Amino acid sequence: MIAPIERTLTGLRAQTAVWRKAGETIGVVPTMGALHQGHLSLARAARAACDRVIVTIFVNPKQFNNPDDLENYPRTEEEDARKLESIGVDLIYVPSGDEMYPSGFATTVHVDGLTDMLCGATRPGHFDGVATIVPKLFLQTSADQAFFGEKDYQQLQVVRRLARDLDIPIDVIGCPTIREEDGLAMSSRNLLLSDRSRIKAPVLAEVMNDMAERLKSGATMTAIQDEARTRILAAGFNEIDYLELRDGSDLSLLDAAKPDARLFAAAWLAGVRLIDNIAVE
Ligand code: AMP
Repeated sequence: MIAPIERTLTGLRAQTAVWRKAGETIGVVPTMGALHQGHLSLARAARAACDRVIVTIFVNPKQFNNPDDLENYPRTEEEDARKLESIGVDLIYVPSGDEMYPSGFATTVHVDGLTDMLCGATRPGHFDGVATIVPKLFLQTSADQAFFGEKDYQQLQVVRRLARDLDIPIDVIGCPTIREEDGLAMSSRNLLLSDRSRIKAPVLAEVMNDMAERLKSGATMTAIQDEARTRILAAGFNEIDYLELRDGSDLSLLDAAKPDARLFAAAWLAGVRLIDNIAVE
């Protein structure tokens, strides 16, 4: 059965109140729609852990630093609802822009430090948009657990930080990145790639995996970085926003592997920005 779609906060709260009264636990999976197997893996994890599962779909304008990106972002609500059917989600929450940001809305949540680098440095305002919408979704759904993908690893760390800092009583669960057969990390933005670009796209993960192997064998980023960048650009990528080794917890910059080190990359392919990250140790 297709899960009911709720578009208002009042309706959402009426439903969650019933679940709460019955002593049921609630899991939330925040998304921007155009669902793929990555999102579905989060919904499955929520289904396995919680009595009730809410998937939210909201293309959050505040986290887009580029108006064209917002305009072009894929929107596929009917298909999304159908994809969630087999998982047994209880509710799909699809609020309107006015519902989330009514006239007079004036609050911004900003997480210091973790948002200074990586996507925070190359997409100004992006994480303020994320950090403002996520606690709203947590409070609106009154969820016990929230499921986020490691695909957006920096976002996951920012969300963990804000939940702790704001004392929001919710467990933030990180789930592994789901990939296409050729290694490309699944992303709603992959839909925007032309056939030609789609063939080139897996090179990013391929180069990162090779780098991870060399780093595990003792190589430093200083030694391997230039060659890796050259390979990515030679494959047809136009620009690399970052290709860095960082600590997986505080995201501080590293030159050599250590426990919990991760490689992070963002690169442009024919107007589409792809990001990826992998554990190194
Ligand atoms: P988005 O719709 O892109 O905002 O993503 C919604 C959630 O799905 C976020 O927690 C993402 O990290 C997660 N997600 C996106 N792509 C993947 C993937 N390939 N594997 C696992 N989780 C993902």
